[in-house]
Amino acid sequence: MRVVIAGGAGFLGSHLADALVARGDEVVLIDDLSSGTMENITPLIERGHLFLEADISAPFEVPGQVDAVLNMASPASPPAYLAHPLETLAVGSEGTRRLLDLADEHGARFLLASTSEIYGEPLVHPQPESYWGNVNSVGPRSVYDEAKRFAEALTMAHHRTKGTNVAIVRIFNTYGPRLAAGDGRVVSNFIVQALAGDPLTIYGDGSQTRSLCYVDDEVRGLLALLDSELVGPVNIGNPDERTILDLARAVLEVTGSSSPLVFNPLPTDDPTRRCPDITLATTALGWRPSISLEEGLAHSVEYFASLSRAEENGGG
Ligand code: UDP
Repeated sequence: MRVVIAGGAGFLGSHLADALVARGDEVVLIDDLSSGTMENITPLIERGHLFLEADISAPFEVPGQVDAVLNMASPASPPAYLAHPLETLAVGSEGTRRLLDLADEHGARFLLASTSEIYGEPLVHPQPESYWGNVNSVGPRSVYDEAKRFAEALTMAHHRTKGTNVAIVRIFNTYGPRLAAGDGRVVSNFIVQALAGDPLTIYGDGSQTRSLCYVDDEVRGLLALLDSELVGPVNIGNPDERTILDLARAVLEVTGSSSPLVFNPLPTDDPTRRCPDITLATTALGWRPSISLEEGLAHSVEYFASLSRAEENGGG
């Protein structure tokens, strides 16, 4: 297949690209490099895969055949989307519309990366796909949550009115190598802080929960969905739910760090708990995660430690 990946230089997009290329597919990577980096995709470009520097919320052209279109483009870290509210709304709405048109033009399968954020502050726990969510439409996080909810609505409208071959995945917190060190998400923050001997910054009292999925498991789930005929939405995430305080302790354990914990204010509308019900993914796709938090953290620590060694050696 020749697969277009918007957000292809980002964390998840570049891992997906690697997995597609490893199984023999060709990729076309589109990215405006606002949060993605060329380092993530240099080996793919050297092997002849096409990179287009473009913002998908403005017109862009993709030359040649297109068999699938994956929409992985958006700031995804709360500090990143809160710093770029209008761009986040534009990429989720206008960007998604342009990619759906591209898929229509080529009769390609379209996969939307949606998010557990569409459940907002969930009143149902764990969250099955049938739960409609509880989102504050005028709060600061709404720029991400509502952009993704709109993208889901647009995707379903294309499917219903034009017969577009679509799939929607709701991605729960995913972590691993290539999360940007300064990106602000909890796993990268805690690991970077632990390795530097700096305090781990817990927001609120740390009793809020997240369910963290290692990137290799997430990518395997996304490919299973891409290869299926399922429309979804389907939750792809690891139901191993932990408090943020437990996560901090696990990072200290894996790194062997004696960093202290500091408690900072909880961001507005930070969800209290989040855990995927993955019954649909297991029954319809035969997918379930297999990498434990401790194992995934160990791989991630290795990555961030190698980054800081490269910096010390002046390699950047
Ligand atoms: N968090 C934290 N310390 C940090 C970064 C995040 O305690 O340095 C908390 C954050 O308030 C949230 C959880 O960790 O409750 C996950 O945050 P992240 O930004 O990774 O993802 P989210 O699920 O909020 O999109």
